[in-house]
Amino acid sequence: MNWISDWALPKISGLFKRDVPENLWHKCPACEQMIFRRDLETALHVCPHCGHHMRISAVRRLECTLDSGFSRIELPRAPADPLRFRDQRRYTDRLKEAQAKSAMDDAVAVAHGTIDGQRAVVAAFEFAFMGGSMGAGVGEAIVTAAKLAVLQDAPLIVFTASGGARMQEGAVSLMQMPRTVIATRLVKEAGLPFIVVMCDPTTGGVTASFAMLGDIHIAEPNALIGFAGARVIEQTVREKLPEGFQRAEYLLEHGILDMVVKRGEMRATLARLIGLLRTPLVEAPAEVPPPEAADDLPQEAEATPAKA
Ligand SMILES: [Zn+2]
Repeated sequence: MNWISDWALPKISGLFKRDVPENLWHKCPACEQMIFRRDLETALHVCPHCGHHMRISAVRRLECTLDSGFSRIELPRAPADPLRFRDQRRYTDRLKEAQAKSAMDDAVAVAHGTIDGQRAVVAAFEFAFMGGSMGAGVGEAIVTAAKLAVLQDAPLIVFTASGGARMQEGAVSLMQMPRTVIATRLVKEAGLPFIVVMCDPTTGGVTASFAMLGDIHIAEPNALIGFAGARVIEQTVREKLPEGFQRAEYLLEHGILDMVVKRGEMRATLARLIGLLRTPLVEAPAEVPPPEAADDLPQEAEATPAKA
């Protein structure tokens, strides 16, 4: 028996050990500074030291986007485990575990309410639920959200955070790509805005389907957005990828995104966008000459000599 390690060291460390509950502080994964949990909650899980946007739950996302008093809707149940899939564990066991941990049936929560007094339907992905992967349950959630938006004559806003297709559902998972695309088409056909907010990470089948079809594409700072992983691309194209590849700011610079918005400003930005997109078009003033009066105008086109 080593008395130094078994007896003396625990005694000495016991003397200096302060009784601080472990969950009172949170270490920022980017800058490694310690943040008081309550401050982190107030800052919407954005590091006050370096501005790193940490992942937040779908329910928290709904809370900080919609005005208080919003209603979360119950989603139709998709067939669980259509392929009776099993790897090291049964898919049904993985599902049950994820459901117990997140208090959600699947990886998307849908709610309707108002944002700054304007009606909206919001769907939010829960990355902690099997990596926000898109199986039949998630497809069902997006379809339901889209139908609800049409029914309520409200814009649809989707916060994505997903690793892509849910491999345990195989082809059924892939079928959710066209399903969700068709669902969001319904929103567009009804003349309603469809806004996608890409959160860290938005990849795979979600990027390759409805997430890239929004009227407006917003992302949170430094969010990873792409289809395949950077390493896979690098090995395929056999080229070094540029700095910041697949990050929100890089995609904004290259025209994939319309805006990169900090979490603290997201709500106000969405409210402004909905306001702009939903304002009825101003009717043309009566003094504009009707088309037949155009003959009286000087014909500039004829005066310009044709170029060779
Ligand atoms: Zn930090």
